[in-house]
Amino acid sequence: MPATLMALPSVPSVQVELKDLSNTERAVALYVSDMPDRYRYRRGDDALLESWIIQGATRMGLETLYRLAALRSGFQLAWVEECTSAEQKRAQAKRFPKTARLNRAGQVASIVSLHADMSEEAKERGCRPQFDGGCPACEGSGQVWEQWIDPGCDWYQAGYQPCSLCTDPVTPARRVAVAA
Ligand SMILES: [Zn+2]
Repeated sequence: MPATLMALPSVPSVQVELKDLSNTERAVALYVSDMPDRYRYRRGDDALLESWIIQGATRMGLETLYRLAALRSGFQLAWVEECTSAEQKRAQAKRFPKTARLNRAGQVASIVSLHADMSEEAKERGCRPQFDGGCPACEGSGQVWEQWIDPGCDWYQAGYQPCSLCTDPVTPARRVAVAA
């Protein structure tokens, strides 16, 4: 190989487009991008935001970005359900030490996603959270013991139900697809 080629700066290892990233992947990419900590959104900034997202994704590499975004989603889900594990909290703090920046990146990504297209693959990936140390709600069994009252009944039913954190919910769109 000619020496001149060897001297060229390395090209980015990933070629990625905004539409190929889920909302959480966009947020994580913004977190590792050059976006200033105190960035405030202004109308007309869309091209700038897209360039930061692509920069972050390129910097991190897609495989790492997918994994960290899935773990971030898993943490958020567990947080909403008030069942975050100690392992999740530790790993989350280590991965994203700047909490305010992470929240800001999430807000900015949501603004981007209001207007930007998203591929079906990215949407699917966005629905597959991962959990440090396994699902904190069902410990990997995929089901949890629940009690509920059916309409018209005045007594409790009890039994195992699919875990709402880690099992793939049947979306309305998928139900239509199955019925068609
Ligand atoms: Zn679970």
